[in-house]
Amino acid sequence: MRRKLVAGNWKMYGGLASNRALLLDLLPVLGSNGAADSAVCVPYPYLAQVQELLKGTALAWGAQNMSEQAQGAYTGEVSATMLNEFGCRYVLVGHSERRALYGENNQTVAAKFLAATKAGLTPILCLGETLEQREAGITEHVVSAQLDAVTQAAGLAAFGNAVIAYEPVWAIGTGRTATPEQAQDVHAFIRSRIAQVDSSLAQKLRILYGGSVKPQNAAELFAKADIDGGLIGGASLVAKDFLAICAAAAS
Ligand code: PEP
Repeated sequence: MRRKLVAGNWKMYGGLASNRALLLDLLPVLGSNGAADSAVCVPYPYLAQVQELLKGTALAWGAQNMSEQAQGAYTGEVSATMLNEFGCRYVLVGHSERRALYGENNQTVAAKFLAATKAGLTPILCLGETLEQREAGITEHVVSAQLDAVTQAAGLAAFGNAVIAYEPVWAIGTGRTATPEQAQDVHAFIRSRIAQVDSSLAQKLRILYGGSVKPQNAAELFAKADIDGGLIGGASLVAKDFLAICAAAAS
């Protein structure tokens, strides 16, 4: 039985005062161990604040991106070692906004995934197709190519300390959620691809769904056999919504 995980992706939102208010609202519920895991992935400048407020609690934290490089003349980049210094457990890798807006391709994402696992971080690898790709019937092909680039670079065993987030691009921030059946189909497909090589690893691997998860649809999505929680954007910025989604994962 896989333990569910709900991870918030704050994207480029927040501020010292609003972060503090949000975390203080979450902590009474998520601060101690429950039936599901929870985490927040925050903008880099707030990692120190989040570490200070969350250390010693059950609410984990992480970053939304990292460099594939260890160190050097890479202006504006942040390394895995730096994330470790701020107590990050998770790091998002290959979010569709990074792929679409910042030119990250499957190879870059694979290099980041490898660097994260080598540093002991748990990457949350984001995969997903665009609307055009779904309508062309190539969802499985796209997701396989995204996954294969990572397994080739890092080896399948690296997924022993990783999480996958299936995030159809057309559902992110659009209010248009994949139906639980659409999501389940892709989750089962991803798990089956991994099971072809290592069935025990596939059974343990957490595959989150992301794309307009809200309190109203979370329970139905999380009830599906291969959906092990969610990666939550907009709703993770509203304490009562994030708590309701975490409660759906824990029930
Ligand atoms: C995301 O940012 O990964 C995401 C799923 O966003 P939203 O929940 O707002 O669709």
